[in-house]
Amino acid sequence: MARAKLYGGIDLGGTKVEAAVVAAPAKVLGSARHPTPTKGGPPAVAETMTQAMREACAQAGVEPEALGGVGVGSPGIIDPQTGAVSSARNLSDWSGSFPLGTTLGQSLGTVVRVGNDVQVATDGEFEHGAGKPFHSVLGVFWGTGVGGGIVLSGKPWFGRGGAGEIGHVVVRIDGRRCPCGRRGCMEAYAGRAAMEARARRRLDEGEKTDLFKLMEKRGRTRMTSGIWQRALENGDKLAQEIIDEAIVALGAGVASVVNVLDVEAVILGGGLGVRFGQPYAERIAAAMHPHLFNDANPPAVLVAALGDLGGAIGASLLVRRGSSLR
Ligand SMILES: [Zn+2]
Repeated sequence: MARAKLYGGIDLGGTKVEAAVVAAPAKVLGSARHPTPTKGGPPAVAETMTQAMREACAQAGVEPEALGGVGVGSPGIIDPQTGAVSSARNLSDWSGSFPLGTTLGQSLGTVVRVGNDVQVATDGEFEHGAGKPFHSVLGVFWGTGVGGGIVLSGKPWFGRGGAGEIGHVVVRIDGRRCPCGRRGCMEAYAGRAAMEARARRRLDEGEKTDLFKLMEKRGRTRMTSGIWQRALENGDKLAQEIIDEAIVALGAGVASVVNVLDVEAVILGGGLGVRFGQPYAERIAAAMHPHLFNDANPPAVLVAALGDLGGAIGASLLVRRGSSLR
């Protein structure tokens, strides 16, 4: 009997690239992580992704060429047929279109399929993680932005290709400016990029906070989930205020989507979601409650169970099932 096929998965995020070699059903045999390059545009990002995948392969003892394929979860607008990615606005210099699938296919010597990052991560949780007991779930990925993924009656819901943009549910008419340019979106209050920008404005206005000192101390250029967590542990008032506001916004935005879809469970993932864990999932559930129309029967709110590698494991499903999500 031939050795069971191994598959690759790469999660391309705003701050990091995670690569994993996965054996069915969801066993990770090797993994690697690199910061997402902030210079050099899409070619530099593709090179980092290749490097991470090669390292994961070395750890798993397999050549990239021998993989059954590599699935990629990417932000931006994706052409599932060609693997081209455009308008990945959380990545630097990625406003135009770049042939990510083709480029990685050449550098890794295997089949590469590209899907939406949040949808593949939701799919991973649905198949192998916290979503396993359910038929319909909403994935909420709380990180640099706030992304959403939808599985209804066992099938991913793509809409016309743009479904799941939960970060841009309006939680306040004429509210704060969102990184997308519109006003009052949930992401303007709960996305890490928007939260960092807000912290910076308040610092410039003379407010006391340790957030930036922590960033400096850790040699970071971005306010990572770990920095937010440490500031909260230290009782940083500004960090507390900004996070409290994010939770209120998440409560309103997620509840509004649940009112429409009536899913059985909300799976909370993303850098901040996974880092803060179940106590924050419960805070978000409590913040949702006043907005739930069917408040006698609220959905379960659970933390993503596949951890940091959930996006990469979910991405590997793109090639394992031979389907192309989005
Ligand atoms: Zn927006």
